[in-house]
Amino acid sequence: MTDPITLHNLIDGRLCAPLGGRYLDVHEPATGAVFARCPASDASDVEAAAAAARKAFPGWAATPAEQRAAVLERLAALIEREHDALADLESRDSGKPVALARRMDIPRAVANLRFFAHAVTQWPSEAHPMEAHALNYTLRQPLGVAGCISPWNLPLYLFTWKIAPALAVGNAVVAKPSEITPCTAARLGELSIEAGLPPGVLNIVHGTGPECGQAIVDHRAVKAISFTGSTRTGAAIAASAAPRFKKLSLELGGKNPAIVFADFGFGEADLDTIVRSGFANQGEICLCGSRLLVQRAIYDEFRERYLARVRALRVGDPRAADSDLGALVSEAHYRKVLGCIDRARAEGARVLTGGGPATVGGRCADGWFVEPTVVEGLSNASATNQDEIFGPFVSLIPFDDEDEAVALANGTDYGLAASLWTADLKRAHRVAARLEFGLVWVNCWLLRDLRTPFGGVKQSGVGREGGSEALRFFTEPKNVCLALG
Ligand code: NAD
Repeated sequence: MTDPITLHNLIDGRLCAPLGGRYLDVHEPATGAVFARCPASDASDVEAAAAAARKAFPGWAATPAEQRAAVLERLAALIEREHDALADLESRDSGKPVALARRMDIPRAVANLRFFAHAVTQWPSEAHPMEAHALNYTLRQPLGVAGCISPWNLPLYLFTWKIAPALAVGNAVVAKPSEITPCTAARLGELSIEAGLPPGVLNIVHGTGPECGQAIVDHRAVKAISFTGSTRTGAAIAASAAPRFKKLSLELGGKNPAIVFADFGFGEADLDTIVRSGFANQGEICLCGSRLLVQRAIYDEFRERYLARVRALRVGDPRAADSDLGALVSEAHYRKVLGCIDRARAEGARVLTGGGPATVGGRCADGWFVEPTVVEGLSNASATNQDEIFGPFVSLIPFDDEDEAVALANGTDYGLAASLWTADLKRAHRVAARLEFGLVWVNCWLLRDLRTPFGGVKQSGVGREGGSEALRFFTEPKNVCLALG
């Protein structure tokens, strides 16, 4: 057993220990062993980070967009250079299959940085001539210091999704990755120095939500908070930020439906996508569908084909190339998900496959592995079908017609993402328009274009990220009116 890696904060261009000298243990989900020590930063570290950001802001904001973009491009290239090492680190830290980290998480981090580097140089300005009297134009100016707080499920992917637009438009940033999966963001901090990001432009402060995250939210210098995480934390952040009128972008939880109409003739690839939409990343993606609504006319046949595929999923060592699912991120989350399965049983669910801890390589694992679980027999109003579980768990619900499908899909407090599967073009447009979700996929899932608005409605959040929405969020518009006569 090697000694745990010690992570550092990045403040004012320097890697440093937390001022209080305290650290948190970071566990490897596949084994439960401690493999890293993460700074347990507090308000004094956040104060230092915010002061560095405030100092760095004017110079970075005045740097031409092309030069800012070039630094982000260099950072993207460094992440690309370290692709394999970062994928290994992400997998070890979060429990996700390394193959998924290689295919999705790390390439997406690169894409986020490159996308916003390009986007900012091609962002059109707005002008509104008032005939011969005057000319209005809109300046989009950076806010100053932006706070970025991200969760554990897609660590580097979501960390870069926030810092890239914030930095591209000229803000200085104080960022906090999840204390449960801090490792790749810590490495990004080191790479940002090599990329030539000026000191203080990006500050990364590690620590818990209540101690470190809250200090970022509360800091006077931090003008906006871009947060991705649970609805409960989002509500707490909204309450603390409101008296200071901070700008907020909140990307929160979901209880997403996938709606399967009888008219859809399934190919094997489609079935694979529907299975993935429930179980990719152990179901720990905010966009995963945990309610699978199936039209009654095909319910029995669909269920059998679906179950055959779910039973074929391999839960195993995240480092093994053939593992479809790895371990859940933490012991606490593992216990929560197992508790949700027990609750489903208590509510009267029939467990069709899975239903408990997974064995790995034919034996009980030390880590936090859960079987892909499918249940049926619960009403949409049950707690199982209303509360976010965020694990490898799907509940099958039959429906009779389009109206019922829409009512069931919308019958939740959340509104992040829905997918629908139909061969009928008119139905696809009709249903997509009626669904109360920020994202609707038709005959696909998690097909992402970084230019599109991303985010949810209802309890799934406020505001949108992605494309020009993110550039707008991280800037303040200023109207300038120039008299011509
Ligand atoms: P979480 O809310 O527990 O933590 C998210 C981040 O917020 C962490 O960095 C945490 O340390 C920090 N935090 C906690 N309390 C805080 C406080 N009072 N002030 C400031 N920061 C605080 O969420 P999680 O368990 O890490 O992530 C899982 C959740 O994230 C799920 O609900 C999932 O649906 C959601 N999620 C949403 C999206 C989306 O785009 N809508 C994407 C991924 C994950």
